[in-house]
Amino acid sequence: MAMTAESARPAAAARTYHFGAGPAMLPPEVIAEIRAELPQFRGSGVSILELGHRSPEFRALMRETESDLRELMTIPSDYAVLFLQGGATLQFAMAPLNLGGRGAYLVTGQWSAKAWHEAERVAEGQAVWNGSADGYTRVPTQHEWQVPGGARYLHYTVNETIAGVEFHSAPACGAVPLVADMTSMILSRPVTVSGHALVYASAQKNLGIAGITVVILNPAALHTPPRGTPALLDYRVSLEAESLPHTPPVFAWYVLGRMLKWTRAQGGVAAMAAHNQRKAELLYAVLDASDFYINRVDKASRSWMNVPFRLRDPQLEAAFLQDAAAAGLKNLAGHRSSGGMRASIYNAMPESGVATLAEFMRDFERRHG
Ligand SMILES: *Cc1c(COP(=O)(O)O)cnc(C)c1O
Repeated sequence: MAMTAESARPAAAARTYHFGAGPAMLPPEVIAEIRAELPQFRGSGVSILELGHRSPEFRALMRETESDLRELMTIPSDYAVLFLQGGATLQFAMAPLNLGGRGAYLVTGQWSAKAWHEAERVAEGQAVWNGSADGYTRVPTQHEWQVPGGARYLHYTVNETIAGVEFHSAPACGAVPLVADMTSMILSRPVTVSGHALVYASAQKNLGIAGITVVILNPAALHTPPRGTPALLDYRVSLEAESLPHTPPVFAWYVLGRMLKWTRAQGGVAAMAAHNQRKAELLYAVLDASDFYINRVDKASRSWMNVPFRLRDPQLEAAFLQDAAAAGLKNLAGHRSSGGMRASIYNAMPESGVATLAEFMRDFERRHG
């Protein structure tokens, strides 16, 4: 069946762009591939929606997914890759349970704050730097914090999806194992996996649809979890079962596999990075050229994936969102905790979508500024 990218969406909606933070947009060509392949999965005689997780076809899909991810992210061969459930949120608990309990946290936004609080719930967590007092507008410099003696790891959230604050280089913590939540920036630019003991990312931003979470870990960093830890929260159980300690989300795994192929076809992570930087600069240029729009994030900490902004006159925000939606620019409302607007411009967002939004913003300012 011939299927073009355009035909994946109804014709009337062909020019809409989805700026939601997650579940985020998928590339139309990936949706078209999924649709074309849906009735029967690769000669298995069944749909991917029915495919057994012990089938040879699914085994092949698992191998391919892992090797594509290893290649895209240059994952060291002695590191393990797991595909788990429970989202990034469950990793907030699994990290402390499996890394010896006592974690130090760089709190640069709402997600790292959640990770820290979950560590306090299941073990011990300490915020060694906390940006909440100034409203999460930057990442700390290296000399503003220290890892306390006795800390078993340092946790940071590479990109804060709500605050729009991003680390553009990894914090240095010497011999202390480094743990990263990469959920909203994985595959958006190169990272040094080997500098981390544990990396995790749930799927619904750059990796496809919710239901599957990528965990990359150095097995040498693992500690025995405390007594009472459920089996599914012990990484070693999933390592031994090769990510199949129970029925996996087969369809989400498949979509992840398609997203990895798509990312490779775009030229891989370095090409994505160049593309993403250009996209982000289009929006920050509009914000910088105007005092009609406000983004308080320090320039050096600006996210390439999530650009939150407000209007100087909050009364106009409802009209902004309404006019934007009418122009095909959907889901620009900010997080329910912070209000305002947020443009999520993950890998799948084409430059044309960002350029259309930038032009809309300039035009809205001309009409209302
Ligand atoms: C979306 C997000 C999460 C939460 O992911 P779930 O899959 O809903 O658990 C955690 N961290 C970051 C940085 C996120 O963007």
